[in-house]
Amino acid sequence: MADKVVEAVKSGAIKKFFVMAGCDGRMKSREYYTEFAQKLPQDTVVLTAGCAKYRYNKLNLGDIGGIPRVLDAGQCNDCYSLVLIALKLKEAFGLDDVNQLPIAFNIAWYEQKAVIVLLALLHLNVKNIHLGHTLPGFLSPNVAKVLVDTFGIAGMGTVDDDMKLFMGA
Ligand code: SF4
Repeated sequence: MADKVVEAVKSGAIKKFFVMAGCDGRMKSREYYTEFAQKLPQDTVVLTAGCAKYRYNKLNLGDIGGIPRVLDAGQCNDCYSLVLIALKLKEAFGLDDVNQLPIAFNIAWYEQKAVIVLLALLHLNVKNIHLGHTLPGFLSPNVAKVLVDTFGIAGMGTVDDDMKLFMGA
């Protein structure tokens, strides 16, 4: 589907991708992610992997010219595939920096394995990742400051406030 996706971005049919991968849990506050996916504009696509995908792939979000609005890469270890998609898009658009792509990261975390995925994204210099729904307990104030100052990592707010932030409204 790579060619179709690149064409859809070039034509403006897809305006933005949202990486909404990661963990899930039973806490009510995690309904944030379901609600966020439901409120996303029709010209956006969710890239997902890991347990969080069960919040989106049962929603009827439709498709954009045959491209499903939820692209599910698999389990959390398959985040590798999401990274490849981002790097391929970067190549297709001749960009130097993955942060220039129309991709936002609104990621759910819960377990150590997900932290390794986060470290891989930081290694790739991905900036402005939003992380929730709570922040990892081991994030000391000093480590959190480095992540915020160097990578622009942020927590989450309300669905509506975050939507405005991500869509640049
Ligand atoms: S780290 Fe655990 S909870 Fe998180 S996505 Fe992977 S399997 Fe699910």
